[in-house]
Amino acid sequence: MKRIDVKVGFQCSNLCRFCVQGDKRYKHPDKSTKEIKEILKKSKKDAEGVVFTGGEPTFRPKELLKWVTYAKGLGYKTIQIQTNGRMFSYLGYCKDLIKAGVNEFGPALHGSTPEIHDYLTRAPGSWEQTTKGIRNLRSLGQYILTNSVINKKNYKDLPNLAKLFVSLGVSQFQFAFMHINHIIANDPNLIKGIVPRHSKVEPYVKKGLNVGINAGVKVMTEAIPYCFMEGYEEYIAEKVIPESDVFDAGFEVKDYSKYRKNQGKAKGPNCPKCKYYKICEGPWREYPQIFGWDEFKPVKK
Ligand code: SF4
Repeated sequence: MKRIDVKVGFQCSNLCRFCVQGDKRYKHPDKSTKEIKEILKKSKKDAEGVVFTGGEPTFRPKELLKWVTYAKGLGYKTIQIQTNGRMFSYLGYCKDLIKAGVNEFGPALHGSTPEIHDYLTRAPGSWEQTTKGIRNLRSLGQYILTNSVINKKNYKDLPNLAKLFVSLGVSQFQFAFMHINHIIANDPNLIKGIVPRHSKVEPYVKKGLNVGINAGVKVMTEAIPYCFMEGYEEYIAEKVIPESDVFDAGFEVKDYSKYRKNQGKAKGPNCPKCKYYKICEGPWREYPQIFGWDEFKPVKK
């Protein structure tokens, strides 16, 4: 099923240290309701799903309800919100979103404790709000798919985070390796402070996945190549991410999967020897530009 990904603007109530969109925050205006409606209308002929994202789509809470209502009226089958999840702490707002037509809720949680999560989001109280939001959605029987960005400050916490997700009753959780933005890439101190190494992260990701798998919760990873996922290949999200067009900051990316493979990710000099060469996308290209290719060992054919 094809879907569209509408970045409604880049403002956000969090200020995440690893945010790949962070540098767009002060540069690009919000899309107007008129623009968003036009995107929804023109895309409906070949897309059945829409993801409202950003920035933070709930930053304009009343407008979001209008966009969702409009999307539902046009007949979109899945309507998802990718969000920091803080607005879900208001039960009434959750009910309004459900009534308007949202049927997939994608809050982001990056640590099992307020100390880790709030440090990363630079928003005191955000952990409390997002976890309360997940509880609210759960009490309303909603489909909840969380995303957690793997970085240097949280990778050892992933197994505990997974336990928290299981106890909160999420439908699915995903660990996504951070995508290094150009601000971080150009600052050695930021690189040292926030970017983890794939080889160090691997055991913690697998332990976290085991927690979900053993509890019967759907689990996924994103932006982790096959050479760090031995035995867990079936959980690589890139294999199942639907074809999508992305409406970004004043430009449109047709078929984001192709763009991600050809321009976002990269493969190294030894990759052609690897069993997964054809299906693997490789890491985000900024990572080997900083750390090189030594960690990426081709999987034997
Ligand atoms: S193709 Fe390269 S990046 Fe992908 S799994 Fe193989 S060695 Fe790793």
